[in-house]
Amino acid sequence: MPTIDAFETWLRPDAAGLCCIPGGFHVDPARAVERAIITHGHSDHARSGHGAVLATPETIAIMQARLGETCAGSFQALRYGETLDIGDVALRLVPAGHILGSAQVVIEHKGRRAVVSGDYKRAPDPTAAPFELVRCDLLVTEATFGLPVFRHEPDAREIGRLLASLKAFPERTHVIGAYSLGKAQRLIALLRAAGYDRPVWLHGALKPMCDLYVRLGIDLGQIALVSDAPDKLPGEIVLCPPSALKDRWSRRLTDPVTAYASGWMRVRARARQVGAELPLVISDHSDWPELIQTIAETGAEEVWVTHGREDALVHQIGLMGKRGRALALLGYEDEDGE
Ligand SMILES: [Zn+2]
Ligand SMILES: [Zn+2]
Repeated sequence: MPTIDAFETWLRPDAAGLCCIPGGFHVDPARAVERAIITHGHSDHARSGHGAVLATPETIAIMQARLGETCAGSFQALRYGETLDIGDVALRLVPAGHILGSAQVVIEHKGRRAVVSGDYKRAPDPTAAPFELVRCDLLVTEATFGLPVFRHEPDAREIGRLLASLKAFPERTHVIGAYSLGKAQRLIALLRAAGYDRPVWLHGALKPMCDLYVRLGIDLGQIALVSDAPDKLPGEIVLCPPSALKDRWSRRLTDPVTAYASGWMRVRARARQVGAELPLVISDHSDWPELIQTIAETGAEEVWVTHGREDALVHQIGLMGKRGRALALLGYEDEDGE
């Protein structure tokens, strides 16, 4: 079997992040580089200042909306499934199922295949193309929820809890903290899939990204700004950034039931800390069983772990008879992708 060093001749972590040496690019670099491939638009992966950015068309649109049209010197869009040859490296982006436009980077070099997953989940999500499993020799995986305690609920069950609460407290506003990119739009789409057809009311900070999703073809039904509401929205659903849950902003609503949608809501202390009366375990990352399943199904002999709970997952990878390694890359905080 090849050693870690065999992969390291062409894919290796450096001060900026994960670098493909023969391809001359970094994947999701934490500092500005000449050429970057960006897996998705969350701020710990997509940063400004790169010379050239290659990503899916959706990720490019999201980056330009969040960071400005000129956040990179140039942009090149690569659609899911299209192959691009860069020297003797063949490159492909395939869906990661994390948020709209999110991709795994498939890199082939001299008969060996590496997959850099970025953030991913395998549960269906109406706002993202479904995760595609790619068999490979080396898998670079995230580990945000890389502890056995993390098992996410089926999202339909969590949406059911929300709708039941709405029924039980028909006079109260249900205000849900949700990150502006990915979570907010997924929540709205899940509510629509469950048959909820009232307008969904938005804090101003969430509106631009919802509008962009709609422009990119994701149906969110009727959405409206809280600031345009005719009353204090009794019995309605309001989405806001998590930081707004505890501030004065929510006082304009009617006796609000506070909810928070995140994989971290599995942890009671976290739910208390963010002031969530109704914690909804809705995550855009793989939970522990999904991480293990993915590592097994890719057939990778070697697995590198980029961010999250590296230690537990690396240990588990060893138990699976594979070589595991914590990359300990800097700069991934997952500040808005939970
Ligand atoms: Zn991340
Ligand atoms: Zn993310």
